[in-house]
Amino acid sequence: MSFRIGFGIDFHQLVTDRDFWLGGVKIAHHKGALGHSDADVLLHAICDAMLGAACLGDIGVHFPDTDTSLKDIDSKILLKKSFELVKKAGYDIVNIDSSLCLQAPKIKDYIPEMQRVIATILSLQINDVSIKATTTEKMGFVGREEGLVAYATILLQK
Ligand SMILES: [Zn+2]
Repeated sequence: MSFRIGFGIDFHQLVTDRDFWLGGVKIAHHKGALGHSDADVLLHAICDAMLGAACLGDIGVHFPDTDTSLKDIDSKILLKKSFELVKKAGYDIVNIDSSLCLQAPKIKDYIPEMQRVIATILSLQINDVSIKATTTEKMGFVGREEGLVAYATILLQK
């Protein structure tokens, strides 16, 4: 049995007049993430970690932001497509660990729903999808609520 580890990171700006999608869940907030797709930073980091573990490039290679068919696309679709690529290469996911870094709003109450959504798409158990959250103690672009960051690690099994 062979195992492969992967790491993903993603950043998006936070702006007014955008829906805020995070971990496949719509968050109630006066700002949302800006991007070509729905700009779901957590799902993008998980896609990158998964593709990275299988050495299949990154999300920008498979789903370029120059592709007009992907404009405002639901990132749950990108997650599903990334998973299909990884499965085609012969891998299953063992577990995911992730961290979100944002100043506001508090997202603790949304985490169980994010875990459920991600686990369903990736055929995992809830406790195979860890999601943590932190602030930057008001420092930097995250602290000024100009943007947010997601980090994800993933273990694949052949
Ligand atoms: Zn992204």
